[in-house]
Amino acid sequence: MSRTYDVVVVGAGIYGTTAALELHRRGRRVVLLDPGPIPHPLASSTDISKVVRMEYGADSGYMALVDDAISGWHRWNETFGETLYHETGVTMLSRRVMAPGGFEYESYQRLLERGREPERLNAEEISHRFPAWRSDQYQDGFFHARGGFAESGRVVSTLVQQARRSGIEVLEGVTVANVTVDRWVATGVATRAGETVSAGDVVLCTGAWTPWLLPELQPVMRSTGHPIFHLQCDQPKRFSSPRFAVFTADIANSGWYGFPYHPRANVVKVGNHGVGVAVDPASGERVVTAEDEVQLRQFLASALPDLAEAPLVYTRRCLYSDTLDGHLWIDRHPEISGLTVAAGGSGHAFKMAPMLGGLIADAMTANPNPRLSRFRWRELASETDSEEAARYHG
Ligand SMILES: Cc1cc2nc3c(=O)[nH]c(=O)nc-3n(C[C@H](O)[C@H](O)[C@H](O)COP(=O)(O)OP(=O)(O)OC[C@H]3O[C@@H](n4cnc5c(N)ncnc54)[C@H](O)[C@@H]3O)c2cc1C
Repeated sequence: MSRTYDVVVVGAGIYGTTAALELHRRGRRVVLLDPGPIPHPLASSTDISKVVRMEYGADSGYMALVDDAISGWHRWNETFGETLYHETGVTMLSRRVMAPGGFEYESYQRLLERGREPERLNAEEISHRFPAWRSDQYQDGFFHARGGFAESGRVVSTLVQQARRSGIEVLEGVTVANVTVDRWVATGVATRAGETVSAGDVVLCTGAWTPWLLPELQPVMRSTGHPIFHLQCDQPKRFSSPRFAVFTADIANSGWYGFPYHPRANVVKVGNHGVGVAVDPASGERVVTAEDEVQLRQFLASALPDLAEAPLVYTRRCLYSDTLDGHLWIDRHPEISGLTVAAGGSGHAFKMAPMLGGLIADAMTANPNPRLSRFRWRELASETDSEEAARYHG
C-alpha cells in the first residue's frame, strides 16, 4: 500500500475521529488509521460512560470550554437521533463545609459568575434528595443540572460510522511504526506491516501510546493506569435520576467519582481520578488489584452503603495520556513541519469531544484560536504537578 492524502490521522479514539471529521469538513482528503477494531478495546475513549462536567474549580477557561461542548453534545444527540449524552446533572459533594480554595466552592462560584444556577445542598438536603448517600458523611455541596455522562464507546462508533458515510477512509488493522520525515518535514507514516502512507500533514492522536511514537515527549507526557469498577446494582431506581446523578465525592481529596445506573449496561460505575500507576500501553498490566478493591469498598461503606457489598461485574485499569501539568497537548511539532500532536487528555478530555475536532484542525492549520494557548508545545519541569482542580494527588 502506498497512497497519498492531504492528512493522515493516526489513532481512532475521540481525538482522532473528531479531528478526521473536522478536517474532512474543511475540505481535506483524510485517512484515519487504527489497529482496531474501532472503538479499540484498549483505547481510553472506549467505555460505557465518561463524566461531562463544567466544574473545574477556579478554572473558568475549562468551564467555558465544556459549557460550549455541552451545547455540542445536545446537537450530536439531535444529529444522530440517539442519546449519546445523558444530562442527568451532577452532584459535587464535600465532606466539609465548602470553603474558598476548595474544588467545590470555587466551582460553585464560577458557575454563579457564569449565570448558571447550581443548587446548594446541605447534609440534610443531600440525604433527602439523594437518599443513597450516607447522611452523615457530606456536609455540603451542590447539584448542577447542566452536566451528566456520555456513552463514550458508542460515541466513537457513531462518529466513525459518520466518517465512513462522509467518505473518509477509515483503515482498521493498521499500526503505525513511525512518522516518516525528510529533512525536518513530515511526509507521512510507515506501518508495522512495512507500508507507507504519504500525506501533506500527519496528525498523531495516539493517546497513551504517543510518547512511545515520539520519545521527545517522554519527559512531559506519561502513560498512567487508573481503576474503574462496574458494580451490580439491584436497586436501579434508587441509583437513577432524579434520585441519583453523576457525582464527585470530595474528589480533590479522595479521587472518587461515579455514575447513575447505566441504561444499557445495567451497572453502577465508579472510578478514581488519582495519581494512578505507570503502565506501558504496549505491554503493561492493565489489571485492577486487590488493594484497589479494598479502597473501593472502604469508600462505598463510608459513602454509599447500599453498594458496599455489591458484586463487581467488570473492572479495568484504563490509561491516561498524562501530561505533567494535566493540560491537554494539541500543537504542531516545533521542529518537524507538517506534524501535529493531539494527546495529553490526562483523564479529562472526553467531555470536550464536540470541541476537540475544531481545536485540532485549528492547531494543524495554524488558525488562531485563543483556547489553544494552554495546550501548546511546552517545557515542563520534572517536578511539575497536575493543575487540574479535580485531580486527587494522593
Ligand atoms: C479511567 C479513565 C476514566 C476517564 N474518565 C473520564 C471522564 O469521566 N470524563 C472525561 O472527560 N474524560 C475521562 N477520561 C479521559 C478520556 O477518556 C481521554 O482523555 C480520551 O478518551 C483520550 O482520547 P484519545 O483519542 O487521545 O486516546 P484513545 O481513546 O486512547 O485513542 C488512541 C487510539 O490510538 C490508537 N493507536 C495507538 N497507537 C497507534 C499506532 N501506533 N498506530 C495506529 N493507531 C494507534 C489506539 O488503538 C486508540 O484507538 C478518562 C480516562 C480514563 C483512562
